[in-house]
Amino acid sequence: MKEEGGNEVSDKTYAASELVGVLTAEPLGRVLDYRAPEGGCGDGNFVEVPLGPRRVLGVVWGLGRGDWDPTKVRSIVRVLDAPPMQNELRAFLTRAANYTLTPLSQMLRLATRAPSLGEGPINQRIYRLGGAVPNKLTEARHRTVETLRAFSGAPMTLGELTKKAKCGSSVIKGLVKLGVIIEEDAPRDLPFPRLNPAGAAHLVGDQVAAKDALITAVNAEEYSTTLLKGVTGSGKTEVYLEAVAECIRLGRQALVLLPEIALTAAFLTRVEARFGARPAEWHSGITQTERRRIWRMVAEGRAEFVVGTRSALFLPFQRLGLIVVDEEHDTGYKQEEGVLYNARDMAVLRASIVGCPVVLASATPSLETWANVESGKYARLNLSTRYGVAEMPEMGVIDMREANLPANRWISAKLAAEVQARIGRAEQSLIFLNRRGYAPVTLCRACGTQIGCDHCDARMVEHRFLTRLVCHQCGATKPIPQTCPSCKVEGKMTAVGPGVERMAEEVQTLFSDARVAILSSDLFGSARELKAQIEMIAAGGADIIIGTQIVAKGHNFPLLTLVGVIDADLGLQGSDLRAAERTFQLMRQVAGRAGRAEKYGAAWLQTHQPEHPVIRAILSGDEEAFWRAEATERKTAEVPPYGRMAGIILSSTDLRQVFDFGAELARRDGPLKQIGARVFGPAPAPIARVRGRHRVRLLIKAGKLSPLQEALTQWLGQLKVPAGLRLTIDIDPQSFF
Ligand code: ADP
Ligand code: ZN
Repeated sequence: MKEEGGNEVSDKTYAASELVGVLTAEPLGRVLDYRAPEGGCGDGNFVEVPLGPRRVLGVVWGLGRGDWDPTKVRSIVRVLDAPPMQNELRAFLTRAANYTLTPLSQMLRLATRAPSLGEGPINQRIYRLGGAVPNKLTEARHRTVETLRAFSGAPMTLGELTKKAKCGSSVIKGLVKLGVIIEEDAPRDLPFPRLNPAGAAHLVGDQVAAKDALITAVNAEEYSTTLLKGVTGSGKTEVYLEAVAECIRLGRQALVLLPEIALTAAFLTRVEARFGARPAEWHSGITQTERRRIWRMVAEGRAEFVVGTRSALFLPFQRLGLIVVDEEHDTGYKQEEGVLYNARDMAVLRASIVGCPVVLASATPSLETWANVESGKYARLNLSTRYGVAEMPEMGVIDMREANLPANRWISAKLAAEVQARIGRAEQSLIFLNRRGYAPVTLCRACGTQIGCDHCDARMVEHRFLTRLVCHQCGATKPIPQTCPSCKVEGKMTAVGPGVERMAEEVQTLFSDARVAILSSDLFGSARELKAQIEMIAAGGADIIIGTQIVAKGHNFPLLTLVGVIDADLGLQGSDLRAAERTFQLMRQVAGRAGRAEKYGAAWLQTHQPEHPVIRAILSGDEEAFWRAEATERKTAEVPPYGRMAGIILSSTDLRQVFDFGAELARRDGPLKQIGARVFGPAPAPIARVRGRHRVRLLIKAGKLSPLQEALTQWLGQLKVPAGLRLTIDIDPQSFF
């Protein structure tokens, strides 16, 4: 990996009152000068510094610049009792900031997302489940016990527990008296139980060679990237957990990234079975107490293994020895708000700086990763068969042009018959439709008006479950109107097209005795409710599952033997450069849900265009052919991964202002031309208005090896962003909304 100039981080110590730079998470655009405190300080030290009337957290970041009036330079208040930020992490934040063109202060914020970092170890009063098993609890008491269970027994403070269980402190005190809950003083930063890496799994077939290769990579203690490719159920997890075990044996820390919270629960149970204890679990759903504990323990090297979502990548590991990015193709790795980064790519960056291997695991790798394998940058390991007797499902298409369905019906007779057969055998069927809500369009049959959002250029989606129309862009809702807002005719509003809620209705009509469960991200208040629903399904609590793309992700339903895709064409309609790739991945992933245990599975795709090359590639299962065809098209178009792209989104409440500014940027394209890059736009973004702000986008296309970031910086530096206008830079954009 190329070293960029000016990115080296220093590792010096400074005597009292020496001039040092301090990076804070404040949006100031630069590292500030301070004087080292009494007793001195060193690079990477966490410090408290005065800033205006406040005191803020910062990190010592090299020598001061000395461009500040020396009489006005203030002193660092104190060095905090926290392990210093290592060179490696500082270098990573710097490089990630340069790559994503994000201010360094924002990167620091990602790396310090834990409360009271400056406070040393102390005891605190905590509450955890005790040994007594209660019979008959009041509802509030029951809720309290369940809350502790739901967080896998992690202790909580009184404040956290009352808030999460929605109960008063007297409820908790009552449970303490009964011995159901234990109240005690414990160190706030409890170390994690040691994991036991001994006792390797019994691997078979090509799992053995894959495991050996990964163990060799871990032992090399140097940077490498390996694609671990294998169909769902081929044992990828089983294999990379052996690499984790080796990493723990070596006394280094391991990180496994998962694309979303809902997948962590099942994963943690599996890790516990393999290693005898649970690893640290990091994502947005954990308590503040746990957050602080994990941050400290990781920084002190006392958490050997972290499982988390993308932000776990910014934890202060002491001796990171392995990163695994599971389901590496998943779009969940791209952060689409705040700092726009792709955790998969950043994992590779961090590993290259630390000097440790990265494993990218997937049944359907991204074209980016596939291309990196082809060019020899990444190694590749294949698991070619499913473990045990499980086979890949049989796949077929149902040509919807011949299905002759009445209006408002979407399940073909063929698919219905397949489902009916499964019900007879006590097996499960999945009806897949990647569309939330009841109906995507609400239309007046008298005048044709469609109900749109008042703040966005988007149609509102009916959610019958909520009995409201919802805007999927801004979340605004309104009641379903009885009267057309445009022509005022009454009783003519109609739901058009299907969403998962509507599919549930059709399924209940067709199979009135079946137990139906819907899995859609918006139907669950919390990750825990979703987890409970997934467990219920896995245990056989439903005959028919109706789901959006959350079901495509790694959940294991042993009784599931049929997948019916309602509209396989849905993803192919967009103009998105990754439309074909995404559809291919999604369909293969969904199909992979069927027949994971010893039962034989089938997947049926309903389509209006069975001859479409993507549909044919999905059916034939000839993935290499699909990738090669897709690669050829992208090469010809010089788009990623064979070219580079950046998106600029401008937004403002003033339509004129965004267009004028966009046009001015496009006119001054000199710095981009210099590197052979081209600007497209300004054009209204596909969703041209969100939350009342007009959105305009510019797209920059550049050659694969061109210094895009530097050119962008120069280009954008020519103009000052006017007040009221927001400019967002998206390097390697994944979606184009
Ligand atoms: P993937 O991650 O590729 O989807 P998993 O690692 O989850 O595959 O394996 C699928 C299932 O097969 C799991 O239940 C796993 O425990 C089981 N399995 C895979 N390989 C083995 C093995 N060598 N011995 C025992 N069970 C295995
Ligand atoms: Zn809206």
